[in-house]
Amino acid sequence: MAIDLREQVQIDYLEDALLQQHRIRMGMLRLDLVHPLVSGNKWFKLKENIRAARVAGKDTLLSFGGAYSNHLHAMAAAAQAFQLKSTGIIRGFHGKDLPSETLQQCREMGMELVYVSREEYSKKADPSYLSGLQEQYPDAWLIPEGGNNEAGFSGAGTIAAYIPADATMVALPIGTGTTFCGIRQQLDKGIAMLGFPVMKGGDYLYAELSAQIDPGQDNWMLETAMHFGGFAKHTPELLHFMNRFYAIHRIPLDFVYTGKMIYGVEQMIRDGRIADGSHIICIHTGGLQGNRSVQAQLSYTGHNH
Ligand SMILES: *Cc1c(COP(=O)(O)O)cnc(C)c1O
Repeated sequence: MAIDLREQVQIDYLEDALLQQHRIRMGMLRLDLVHPLVSGNKWFKLKENIRAARVAGKDTLLSFGGAYSNHLHAMAAAAQAFQLKSTGIIRGFHGKDLPSETLQQCREMGMELVYVSREEYSKKADPSYLSGLQEQYPDAWLIPEGGNNEAGFSGAGTIAAYIPADATMVALPIGTGTTFCGIRQQLDKGIAMLGFPVMKGGDYLYAELSAQIDPGQDNWMLETAMHFGGFAKHTPELLHFMNRFYAIHRIPLDFVYTGKMIYGVEQMIRDGRIADGSHIICIHTGGLQGNRSVQAQLSYTGHNH
């Protein structure tokens, strides 16, 4: 059976005083709305993995993540939608605690949850550990943490097709950078790419991304200062910004990825680091399910999944 999950993609153009002042057209590519069950960039990384699993004759998707993993959440939903089984290898014992809401939802979507110690989890990319897992789960298609394999990379590249040809810049948040590199490979070189690492010390990504991106496609840069204290860390200022952004534009942002990116884009416009007259497409990579842990501080329901 061919993959048939129609992708619903829209671009919402924003209007406010800052953009007007700088004559900037700024559109939000709403990957958070790409599918009612599977959200954001994770869908794009998963779809080619599902295809590959089918070709290999596997009936289960198996991958790795922490208690708040957007990737596992998306994988559970995708597996359910395509009538595949799913197994999540979860970092850390959760003993007597109830699993996070993210993991509870994964379980409701049919995912088998396997808790492993942090020590065992740290072997998640070791070839010998993986071949042991494959023996234990012979019918599983193994996907690395975050969906970051060849299929994930090429699937992410298909996002480039949704960027309008007259855009001058594409902005998106960066975790591992797989989505960024996948798009950079496929996108017209004339369109600049601007990435916002969401963890502290993101400068190491320059070397890592350079190794994955064709030198001919080198029209890209990173802004590494927008981490707000580190991965999944936040400040009152960030949450306030997200609430205000929602009040103006009616677009929900998540606090781990898209909130930091949009904050950064606006800051760079204000600082004159993005040229007046630009046509920027910001990629809403989804992740709204992760807002549950800050829900009390948000003026909107951040999870549409
Ligand atoms: C996982 C994730 C990212 C990061 O994607 P990478 O390909 O690892 O860089 C960005 N945004 C959201 C919402 C995510 O869930």
